[in-house]
Amino acid sequence: MRADMDLYPNAFQLIKARKKTVELRLNDEKRQKIRVTDPVFFHNSENAYDVLCCKVKDLHVYKDFYELYKDYDPVSMGYAEGETADPGDMYAYYSKDKIDRYGALAIEIEYIDDLYLCDGHMHLEYGPLNEEYAMRFIEEGISKGLHEVDILDHSHRFKEFEGCYEHLKAYDLQAEWLKQKTKFCNTLDDYKALIETIRKKDLPIKVRFGLEVCYTSNTEDLLKDILKDVRLDFVTGAVHSVDSILYDMSFSKELLWDRRSTDDIYRRYYEEVLSLIRSGLFDRLAHPDQIKLFGHEASYDLEPTYQKIAAALSEQGMYSENNTGIHYRYGHKDIGISENILKVFRENKVKLVCASDAHKPEHVGTDIKIATLRNKGEL
Ligand SMILES: [Zn+2]
Ligand SMILES: [Zn+2]
Repeated sequence: MRADMDLYPNAFQLIKARKKTVELRLNDEKRQKIRVTDPVFFHNSENAYDVLCCKVKDLHVYKDFYELYKDYDPVSMGYAEGETADPGDMYAYYSKDKIDRYGALAIEIEYIDDLYLCDGHMHLEYGPLNEEYAMRFIEEGISKGLHEVDILDHSHRFKEFEGCYEHLKAYDLQAEWLKQKTKFCNTLDDYKALIETIRKKDLPIKVRFGLEVCYTSNTEDLLKDILKDVRLDFVTGAVHSVDSILYDMSFSKELLWDRRSTDDIYRRYYEEVLSLIRSGLFDRLAHPDQIKLFGHEASYDLEPTYQKIAAALSEQGMYSENNTGIHYRYGHKDIGISENILKVFRENKVKLVCASDAHKPEHVGTDIKIATLRNKGEL
């Protein structure tokens, strides 16, 4: 069985430096399922996508941490060189009652690498919200060696969000698009039922569920009202329109790109991105520079804009996607976000999550390894 654990940054870095080789936990029901050779993933408590991939080398159960501490040297447990190892330190994490009840577990680990492959964005949009269809995406992730898949669907799948799209109907082409049978065809309760079904499965891959919400500043209050009751693993905010006109559709050329200057569209797009971030409604920003998808480029310097976005993301503690979708779906040359925006994000320590934007099971994981290496500055 796979285990996922959160670790404070200090302990996290010590495993990465191969100094800490033993993880100490309460031997509760969850940990009793861990076996030697199982994979274990340590997530940095400050960034869920900063993950150490490890393997369980050995396991030892003790009646309490006093007994456990006798068998291990302090450095292997995460203490600094020369620091006194006090078993009483473990009371900061577990109560005496719990320790008496369950005992202590020493998990001896082998650190393998920090190449955690997560595809953080895929849509069930073109199929039903059922177990069989969702499992096709999950199985694809497993077969491609991913460690995590995050499923989301657009807010325009769900009836609850219908009112947020009224403003797009001012244009007939958009009103027609909103009549498609994939729009507003389910409720969030349908989605929750599917999530519960998948959660009951013992899967070798981590699966999170969220939403990709179409954000516009003029629907922010409506969104706030709907999202206050939404309890999912994450909510991703996306800008798909400027001034009530979608920029990423086949009809966008006629409605938008042929009518307005590229610089004007870029400016309005990034104003909306900034207001999305500052709204405080979202955990993640979807495809930050997707406005480039048809190859239009702004003539002005975008660096100051990227700096503002990076600062706002950090201030909100939000993740940004590195989304590879427009490379294989629209033929854009960039595999993910541009080198310029990525450089600014890295310099500002913006938390990043990779995303394929798969709309079909076979697209799960597309270019995720490349995006992961780019995020780390290793490609
Ligand atoms: Zn999107
Ligand atoms: Zn998407």
